[in-house]
Amino acid sequence: LRHEVHKSEKLNVLSELAASVAHEIRNPMTVARGFMQMLSQSQVSEDKKRIYTHMVIEEIDRAQSIISDYLSFAKPEAEKMEELDLSTLAQKISNLITPYAAMRGIEIVFDIQAGLRIKANSDKMTQCLINLTKNGIEAMPEGGHLHVAGYRKDHSIILQIKDTGVGMSEEQVQRLGTPFYSTKNKGTGLGLMVSYRIIKNFGGQIDVHSQENLGTCFTISLPAV
Ligand code: ADP
Ligand code: MG
Repeated sequence: LRHEVHKSEKLNVLSELAASVAHEIRNPMTVARGFMQMLSQSQVSEDKKRIYTHMVIEEIDRAQSIISDYLSFAKPEAEKMEELDLSTLAQKISNLITPYAAMRGIEIVFDIQAGLRIKANSDKMTQCLINLTKNGIEAMPEGGHLHVAGYRKDHSIILQIKDTGVGMSEEQVQRLGTPFYSTKNKGTGLGLMVSYRIIKNFGGQIDVHSQENLGTCFTISLPAV
């Protein structure tokens, strides 16, 4: 019975969220459609064509980020639980995120103890860690260091993602994980909400410690296998 209650609660949250995600995607679609319509008129100048095309691409990109930030959470059937080795997972994250960091002049250091194992879903863990490392990188517009550490503490596996970025006020930290809360121009405000849910589903939690102008540290703790 408890399992069923939990399941229907999850479905409720899911459909509520799906409705607001659909709404958020409709906006860029409407804007893109409007520009396409203007483009289709014969008397559009080359200058305007360039601007409109650029706007259409921007809006499509926005819809794309909303979908990819939301997608893994919306696909519960893909949730195959497996035993994951943290070093292997970190290697995968490193491959995916290093080009993005290098482009922004940011150095990432991975410091993962050997032999750490968790029970989770590889795709979802990857999405969660990409969301957190990406946020860390985006918090350092002037460059900086991102430190990803993994170690064991009692019966938990701890994963820390620490940046030397802009940091957050206490008020901002309180708002983290609220759908569509974003301080970025092209943000979706879905990355953290999805990440919190992913970790919660695997029986863990995420804590945040942040200081304005000094940086932020996200700490994930999960039960050790
Ligand atoms: P998005 O990245 O699309 O804005 P997120 O849910 O990933 O959405 O993050 C929500 C907000 O939380 C960000 O817009 C930012 O204000 C804040 N935030 C998240 N991670 C960090 C970080 N490492 N340093 C500073 N602020 C952060
Ligand atoms: Mg983000």
